[in-house]
Amino acid sequence: MDDEIILPGRLSEACGVCGGFADDQPLAFLTCFSLYALQHRGQESAGIVAGPGEGRKMWLKKGMGLVSDVFPDSADLKGIVCRLAVGHVRYSYGEGGRSPENSQPLKLRYRHGELAVAHNGHLLNSAELREELERQGAIFQTDTDSELLAHMVARQGSSNLEEALADVVPRLKGAFAFIVTDGHKVIGLRDGYGFRPLSLASIDGDGYFMASETCAFDTIGARFIRDLEPGEMVVLDEEGMHSRRVLDNSCPKLCVFEYIYFARPDSNLQGRNVHLVRRELGRQLAREHPVKADIVSGVPDSSIAAASGFAEEAGLPYEMGLVKNRYIGRTFIKPTQKMREEGVDIKLNPVRKIVEGKRVVLVDDSIVRGTTSVKLIKIMRRAGASEVHLRISSPPVKGSCFYGIDIPDARDLIAYNRPVEEIPSVTGADSVGYLSMERTVEAVGLPAVELCRACFTGDYPLIND
Ligand code: AMP
Repeated sequence: MDDEIILPGRLSEACGVCGGFADDQPLAFLTCFSLYALQHRGQESAGIVAGPGEGRKMWLKKGMGLVSDVFPDSADLKGIVCRLAVGHVRYSYGEGGRSPENSQPLKLRYRHGELAVAHNGHLLNSAELREELERQGAIFQTDTDSELLAHMVARQGSSNLEEALADVVPRLKGAFAFIVTDGHKVIGLRDGYGFRPLSLASIDGDGYFMASETCAFDTIGARFIRDLEPGEMVVLDEEGMHSRRVLDNSCPKLCVFEYIYFARPDSNLQGRNVHLVRRELGRQLAREHPVKADIVSGVPDSSIAAASGFAEEAGLPYEMGLVKNRYIGRTFIKPTQKMREEGVDIKLNPVRKIVEGKRVVLVDDSIVRGTTSVKLIKIMRRAGASEVHLRISSPPVKGSCFYGIDIPDARDLIAYNRPVEEIPSVTGADSVGYLSMERTVEAVGLPAVELCRACFTGDYPLIND
């Protein structure tokens, strides 16, 4: 029976995963450092599983909070004797996602031993698969897609994890980058579209490491080898590394939002450096939406690169018109609109001496609900800016994301069912310019058909196919 796909609910995960296999390496420690590098991908919980430990059981530590909260004495991790480790940072959103039991990696026991799973992404058919398993008597302790995969592997029956995974993953519909271990091997898996990134590196010539982003490799001195192909399963074990295709990958769709906002600027995705792509997005934006102004400022941190590209192309000075308080957490995911607005006030402050009396081009990477833009225009005017021109280095976000990026329901989006011409009056800006889809794709440098652009175009892979 084919699994029916229905539009998923809003419980999703936009996480970071990593893990590797190596002899003579402090792998739990290296995994912890990689998690630090991936912290921007999730701040709700962090965890590491390592093994095989005493009695061949895997060691696990995880908890709510930042990597530094969960592993305050990371140097102690050097003492953990292990040949493999898997790590996870979690960012959940949607209804009821935040709870300690959903923290990962998820470690379970099944008849062939132990199994640990770390997941980044979102399955579209998880409700159906879960219901099917529950009808067969499965008891779930978490809301995660990781637990779903673990149940499917356990039921598949094979003691060979690689075979079991290859057998069950074709039933998963959606976006996923999994790292799974049974204490003997570490297996990385990307869905056939490759929505979420996952890359491979070597460690000191005697081991391998995988991570959601290449910035994690730099942190631990691992050497980048390549990105996993969509639909590819990479197995790391005492034999080294081998790989096989387990899902059709004729239609790659890497998430364009990774380039625009989500990934770290020092990461490379598909060989393209995120910072350079963002700078090019800014340059294209300046060409498409030029404006007479005195200075260009970016909304820190994710828009600095685009703002510098804009300034360069426009021949205007780039100025630090806004300062970000780096000790404040995310305002984007606060539960109420009032809290989100207050959050912007605490997080971002204008430099009055810079913006006073100036015509300011304010560059941001995206407008989602509009909370940030509306607030920032007011803040800039209060600081004395004579004009504020908002420039956005991506197209209008018109739809939610079902593949693991936190974008609210379409109805909450400022550009949903609203012509672009109305955005200046809604935000209070003197003018607003969004980068066109065509120029966005050009700046990224990959063929348009190889990018998931669903939140901009409404053309959802797997749902509209
Ligand atoms: P909003 O205030 O809702 O319009 O959100 C837009 C702001 O949040 C921009 O400054 C973006 O850099 C940032 N942003 C965009 N997408 C996300 C996301 N998925 N998670 C967190 N922040 C985001």
